Amino acid sequence: MSDCLFCKIIDGKIPAKRLAESDAAIAIADITPQAPVHALVLPRKHVASLNDLTDADRRAIMPALYELADRLVAEKGLRETGYRTVINNGADGGQTVFHLHMHVLAGAKLNHGFGG
Ligand code: 5GP
Ligand code: ZN
Repeated sequence: MSDCLFCKIIDGKIPAKRLAESDAAIAIADITPQAPVHALVLPRKHVASLNDLTDADRRAIMPALYELADRLVAEKGLRETGYRTVINNGADGGQTVFHLHMHVLAGAKLNHGFGG
């Protein structure tokens, strides 16, 4: 989608630090990291949010996000120490960029706390 920040990053029109890639997804470093490792795993296909997944998208995209996240944490040796995955959805969920993405946070003991 032409006016989408993450589509521009995927297309290489806006720079980002690429951490891992697959046919269906790419992982980039978050520009404002909230943990020592803070990656964003993006489907290459533009889907605005979880609400916008078709059933076929859901079957294809969600495993692809988890597969790339798993590869990333395995490569960084973070499986054993642990990590957190988060998908913010919609305004109340805290979503600010409307191209579906999974946050992967790791590298330190994360604060335990969700919700407002
Ligand atoms: P959300 O709030 O939608 O779940 O997460 C959006 C994330 O995108 C935020 O953590 C924010 O720091 C990150 N972000 C926003 N703009 C950019 C950018 O231009 N480049 C990168 N790499 N991350 C960005
Ligand atoms: Zn997009």
